[in-house]
Amino acid sequence: MSAADQRRACAKLKHVLVERPRRSNGPDQQVAGTGASRRTALRPHNDPGNTVDLNWSDSEERFRSEVRAWLAANVPTEPLPSGDSREGFAAHIEWEKKLFAAGYAAVSWPEEYGGRGSSLWEWLIFEEEYYRANAPNRVTQNGIFLLAPTLFEYGTDEQKRRILKPMAAAEVTWAQGWSEPNSGSDLASLQSRAVRVDGGWRLSGQKTWCTRGSFCDMVFGLFRSDPDAQRHSGLTYFMVPLDAEGVTVRAVERLDGDEGFAEVFFEDVFVPDTDIIGEVNNGWKVAMATASSERGLSLRSPGRFMATATRLIDLYRRSGCSDARIRDEVIRAWMDAQAYNITTLQTVTRMLDGQTITAESSLTKIFWSDMDVRTHKTALDILALSGELDEEAPAADSGGAWLKGYQFALAGPIYAGTNEIQRNVVATRVLGLPRK
Ligand SMILES: Cc1cc2nc3c(=O)[nH]c(=O)nc-3n(C[C@H](O)[C@H](O)[C@H](O)COP(=O)(O)OP(=O)(O)OC[C@H]3O[C@@H](n4cnc5c(N)ncnc54)[C@H](O)[C@@H]3O)c2cc1C
Repeated sequence: MSAADQRRACAKLKHVLVERPRRSNGPDQQVAGTGASRRTALRPHNDPGNTVDLNWSDSEERFRSEVRAWLAANVPTEPLPSGDSREGFAAHIEWEKKLFAAGYAAVSWPEEYGGRGSSLWEWLIFEEEYYRANAPNRVTQNGIFLLAPTLFEYGTDEQKRRILKPMAAAEVTWAQGWSEPNSGSDLASLQSRAVRVDGGWRLSGQKTWCTRGSFCDMVFGLFRSDPDAQRHSGLTYFMVPLDAEGVTVRAVERLDGDEGFAEVFFEDVFVPDTDIIGEVNNGWKVAMATASSERGLSLRSPGRFMATATRLIDLYRRSGCSDARIRDEVIRAWMDAQAYNITTLQTVTRMLDGQTITAESSLTKIFWSDMDVRTHKTALDILALSGELDEEAPAADSGGAWLKGYQFALAGPIYAGTNEIQRNVVATRVLGLPRK
């Protein structure tokens, strides 16, 4: 189906996808932290006949063309080495600096923080084009996609001024320090502690599974600041330099040889009050804002899955495969990616309408992570035995990207909170079912 056909098919959906919009009164209004404007006509907007218009405006199409042209001229022709290796991380940072210099590192952020002041719609367009162009993975993602939305919501003006621009510029990189050896799914059981001292806090304990922690400059994490409070109440959200006195970072090698993870040890590490996000002992609430970004909109934009589904169709056509089951799976992959895209348009519409997306992001996370596994599994089914060739095998299709992608997709139902836990959240907080 051509892009125009897709748009026409989508435009036929009525009443289903978007709630009746509340009328916007008065002039465009800035939506905090997104660089987006509230529009008198929402996208997708309802016309008086209540149809959904999913067409982009002329200026949005112009933006798409600019982004497409820039990416075509600048995306490295040879894939960079894995961003989870030291050498690959450095190469990715060089790429991200280039992205920043061109104004594309964080398009929806306000310009004063290193963004472009684009709308959330333009961010979605940018993401679509980025993945379509097969541009390098963003190794800055823990900062730009997880910590930054949290800072926009809970950070002080001083923190935003100090932290966001170097983050966008890939000058300061961030790891996420939540999991501990005995606290993964049950994060609120975490034991790392923070003790009050003059002008700040002393942190002790251990974090684990910190993605790219061996290469990053900073970590954000939760620490128990009131051991006597109820589990969720006594936690505080800190930001800590990974080269601070008392911090030890130990790389954890993965089965594929990359140092993708790190353990981080804290021994009496001093952190000033100015490096707390939100209020002392209110870290759980702040962390849930980060989790919502991780599971929902910002970490996994639909462009990523639409590009994968398009590549799957291309692979299917090239393969000459005639297995009806596989053909159905290919079609399903494409439809799922479209469904995720349309649901995201609905989510953005709601956000621009002033609504906050909370527990529903768990539904989103289950959907994209399961979809990613299925899509890659279908590709491996098409490739049959040759799907087992890795990136070093000259005959591997797409440089072994399907196998590598499948291996990473398998982690999707685990990171950002396992899917079993997300199902519990959906049951209790979205559907309102009893715990027992
Ligand atoms: C690729 C990847 C990147 C990661 N990056 C980071 C990072 O940067 N920073 C960070 O802090 N962490 C990171 N993690 C860790 C991740 O957050 C944890 O692995 C995850 O929260 C699960 O915790 P766990 O591994 O301790 O498993 P456990 O919590 O021990 O769970 C084991 C199994 O039991 C199930 N289970 C547990 N409790 C329940 C329950 N109540 N109901 C039903 N089932 C349950 C789980 O679903 C899971 O299947 C990453 C993980 C992966 C795979």
